[in-house]
Amino acid sequence: MQTTKRVAVIGGGVIGASTAFYLSQAPSTEVTLFDEGTGQATSAAAGIISPWLSRRRNKRWYRLVKTGAAFYPTFIKDIGQDPSNSAIYQKTGTLLFKSKPEYLDELMEIGLKRREDAPEIGELHILSPDEIRQYIPIYEGQASALYASGGARVDGGKLVDHLQNTLEERGVSIHRTQAGIQKGASGRYAVSDAAGTQEFDAVVLAVGAWLPQLLKPFGYDVDVRPQKGQLAQLTLPISETADWPVVMPEGEKDIIPFADGKVVIGATHENDMGYDLSIDETLLRPMIEEAAEGFSSLFKEASHIAYRSGTRAYTSDYSPFFGEIPGNPGLYTASGMGSTGMTAGPLVGKILAQLILGEAADLPLEDYPVDRYVTPLDTLQ
Ligand SMILES: Cc1cc2nc3c(=O)[nH]c(=O)nc-3n(C[C@H](O)[C@H](O)[C@H](O)COP(=O)(O)OP(=O)(O)OC[C@H]3O[C@@H](n4cnc5c(N)ncnc54)[C@H](O)[C@@H]3O)c2cc1C
Repeated sequence: MQTTKRVAVIGGGVIGASTAFYLSQAPSTEVTLFDEGTGQATSAAAGIISPWLSRRRNKRWYRLVKTGAAFYPTFIKDIGQDPSNSAIYQKTGTLLFKSKPEYLDELMEIGLKRREDAPEIGELHILSPDEIRQYIPIYEGQASALYASGGARVDGGKLVDHLQNTLEERGVSIHRTQAGIQKGASGRYAVSDAAGTQEFDAVVLAVGAWLPQLLKPFGYDVDVRPQKGQLAQLTLPISETADWPVVMPEGEKDIIPFADGKVVIGATHENDMGYDLSIDETLLRPMIEEAAEGFSSLFKEASHIAYRSGTRAYTSDYSPFFGEIPGNPGLYTASGMGSTGMTAGPLVGKILAQLILGEAADLPLEDYPVDRYVTPLDTLQ
């Protein structure tokens, strides 16, 4: 008779919720999810899925986000949504602006080369201002942009709500509390929260920027630091915004349109604010004003402005990591996703589930080594 494996997933952002989702499909697995939720990057995220035209030279990172972006339609289908018509995810295309026209030509060249092994980039065209207006009628700027039809946007808040609801329907117990971990009896792990302590055969630490807090009492130093991100959500006095492409000017102020006039603008990248989540309008107001340049006064007539903030997780070399923590069979983690964790998150969640279920992982784990960022305290100088 097959024995049931008890698995705890700590952290219910995109990675933890996706891991729990894939584990909950396995009949031999009983999953419990712990998610405190404060500062969660996933529900704060801008949600741009468009990694192909980045100038970052980190090949392992690129492979992760490229594969993560390609995996999205399958993931959306797996979670019971229609990838071509979902409030959670939509392939709307992206428009990339550059300060000089010749930079657009360079970007086009990069795009065409990368498309050879990433056909999901889709069509690539340099669009004139008039052509941009066919996609976004309120565009009044004079700049051209590179259009990539494969770009998408995802609503992180809706995604985790949907995943957590599905998990509850499948009988997964969700504790919306802070949890801690200790070594339990005979190689198992003890997870404690306000409701008590339970032992598990395997534990996944998908706690983003909070990994140091969980692993320090467990005897590890963790090279992960928090980065604050703030953004604004405007409601424009028009409703036909659902199909607009994501607008990516140079710098921080991306514009991510959603349905019913909702437009997200952001986000800040603040390295010296720790886990602070307060809203700083002195940063956000100029961001909205700058983003509005080139668009009609409709931006200034937004009926509602809401702000939100969240905490990203960064490593000192900006590389992500995931897998089993060496020396701790059954203890898994993923963190350091930086600004592209919405892109990589579902794939990383699936890979963590594959490891726990003893299946082959979709990417080579040695490219994302946990032990480079999670080091036993007693080996430190
Ligand atoms: C403003 C902003 C904009 C972004 N835009 C994009 C984008 O456009 N595209 C993109 O690809 N990525 C983007 N990102 C990055 C992306 O959101 C993150 O990389 C990704 O969401 C990280 O997911 P995660 O599951 O690792 O962590 P999180 O989403 O942070 O989830 C971790 C969860 O663990 C919980 N937790 C922590 N400690 C404990 C504990 N002890 N017990 C119980 N629960 C605990 C937290 O409360 C949280 O809910 C953005 C991030 C921010 C902040």
